[in-house]
Amino acid sequence: MARLQAKYPGESEYLQAVQEVLESIEEVYNQHPEFEKSRIVERMVEPDRIFSFRVTWVDDRGEVQTNTGYRVQFNSAIGPYKGGLRFHRAVTPSMLKFLGFEQTFKNALTTLPMGGAKGGSDFDPKGKTDEEIMRFCQAFMLELWNCIGPDQDIPAGDVGVGGREIGYMYGMYKKLAREYNTGVLTGKGATWGGSILRPEATGFGALYFTQNLLHPAGKDIKGCKVAVSGFGNVAWGACIKALELGAKVVAISGPDGVCAIPDGITREMIDYMLVMRASNRDRVEDMATKFPAAAHFTPGKKAWSIPCDIALPCAFQNELSEDDAKELKANGCWCCCEVSNMGCQPGAIHFFQHNGILFAPGKAVNAGGVATSGLEMTQNAEHISWSGQEVDEKLHFILKSIHEQCVKFGTQPDGSVDYVKGANIAGFMKVATAMLEQGVV
Ligand code: GLU
Repeated sequence: MARLQAKYPGESEYLQAVQEVLESIEEVYNQHPEFEKSRIVERMVEPDRIFSFRVTWVDDRGEVQTNTGYRVQFNSAIGPYKGGLRFHRAVTPSMLKFLGFEQTFKNALTTLPMGGAKGGSDFDPKGKTDEEIMRFCQAFMLELWNCIGPDQDIPAGDVGVGGREIGYMYGMYKKLAREYNTGVLTGKGATWGGSILRPEATGFGALYFTQNLLHPAGKDIKGCKVAVSGFGNVAWGACIKALELGAKVVAISGPDGVCAIPDGITREMIDYMLVMRASNRDRVEDMATKFPAAAHFTPGKKAWSIPCDIALPCAFQNELSEDDAKELKANGCWCCCEVSNMGCQPGAIHFFQHNGILFAPGKAVNAGGVATSGLEMTQNAEHISWSGQEVDEKLHFILKSIHEQCVKFGTQPDGSVDYVKGANIAGFMKVATAMLEQGVV
């Protein structure tokens, strides 16, 4: 860690993600001298390569805009590079390195052969029109197309990138590459190679994982009050499944504040989240404006200020602080499943783990999204489409298996399960073993 801190000062998200994994694997690593001999850790924390490029496009006023695009190909030990693209004003190489690093372990947990990658741009979708989004996506692909391919590197969505953006990017990819293999991107439209349930999969998977977490503790989601942060694709899928499983979603939030929903979110309100996302206004207050009797908006507050049983951070890294964790506990919360990537600050995780709150990390909880991307790749390679039921069965199986891996590697001497350790060690063992078997490359 000291070497990395000196080499990459200021890359705080990346250093945070690496530190968490290294702390988790220390004991196992020391039991395997062959890993040390082959310098597995030193190799694993460095991305294989990073592409960085200028993206220039013209906005609706005819003005020329310039952003920076990136693709971080992190690790290919267990398969081709795989991971999403994030469009957000705060995107930096540090953010994408942390996300690519996390993705490597997450993908290893899915049971599918996928390496880790991440990419994106500091382009800010907020306030952009549909035409501007299209022009940006096309300009971004003008550079990215040369770095990706269905057997090399398969991007997908992430914050700020959903079905619409994937569509625009694929359209441009086809023109540039003269390749018509839809397997180069996942999260596509259902009529042109997209997998049924991929849009829902991250949120659905998170709730399946939560069920696996609760059942051994003799608990069930049914009847629980759930607080959700965000209102994007992940929060949307989580709300649908929470409702289906009989839970009550009592809060959703955005950068502007929180909407308390005392009687629980309805299907109509969940559908409206899609409208809010497509509007690019990035305001959760719009929910309270649309449904004034059901949702009450408070500016500047987080979802964690609303009393709940289960907290589901579904928005952004480090969105839940130690103080938030304490507020949750004081308000009766007893479980937190991290759905966003690195959504909880280290102090919050420490607090949960030492105060009897069930906690599971993003790389296990949210892996259903990329796992279903893996299923989309399989369908594309076979030129077939599975039914929703087939995909859902596989998703259930994958989340169950991820939970089992966490239990296998995270069970402590007192019988409790440290899900952070479990997920990190399980992912690490798979990637490290593959790297060892493939020699020093
Ligand atoms: N961005 C998602 C994640 O963080 C999905 C990536 C994918 O489907 O490739 O896992």
